[in-house]
Formats: sequence, structure tokens, C-alpha cells
Amino acid sequence: MEKLTKNDDGELILVNIVEGMVIQIVDELIETMDMCNCKRCRLNACAIALNNLPSHYVTTEKGALLGELEDIEINYRTNLTVEVTKALLFVKEHPLH
Ligand SMILES: [Zn+2]
Repeated sequence: MEKLTKNDDGELILVNIVEGMVIQIVDELIETMDMCNCKRCRLNACAIALNNLPSHYVTTEKGALLGELEDIEINYRTNLTVEVTKALLFVKEHPLH
């Protein structure tokens, strides 16, 4: 069977880059808001934001840094910040604990 990977270590995987960016932005913004920042609230905010955002999948090698991520991040970041802020406000008003 033909190998799709470059080498034995470079297993190719699918990554939704929006997911990592949303997690990062949630962690940044939650510090600036007067609200609970436990793991449950952070993950709830991530889930709400990700459900309201289009996914953006790329193929990459497992463990590799995403070279093209910076360009995409600039295009997405404003939109992501808006959705993350909305999600955080919702979690603040409706914490699941
Ligand atoms: Zn909490």
C-alpha cells in the first residue's frame, strides 16, 4: 500500500485550526472578564463558540507547527474574538455548576 506520509514519524492528521485558536482566545479573554475561569466554564465557552463558527480543516503532520497558521489567524481572529466574547458572556450568565 502506498504511503501517504513523508516518513514514519510524519503521520498526517486532520486539524480544525479554529479549535486551537478558540481555546487560546478563550484563555486570554476569560482573564479580563469578571467570571469563573474553571476548566468547565472555559470548555463550555469553547464549545459554544465553536458551534457558532465555521470549521477550517488543514492536513498537517502530527506534532508539526502549522506554517500557514499566521495568515489564516489574522483573517479569522476578529470574527473569533466576537464569537468567543458572546460565548463567555453566555457562560457567565449560565454557568453549568
Ligand atoms: Zn466555572
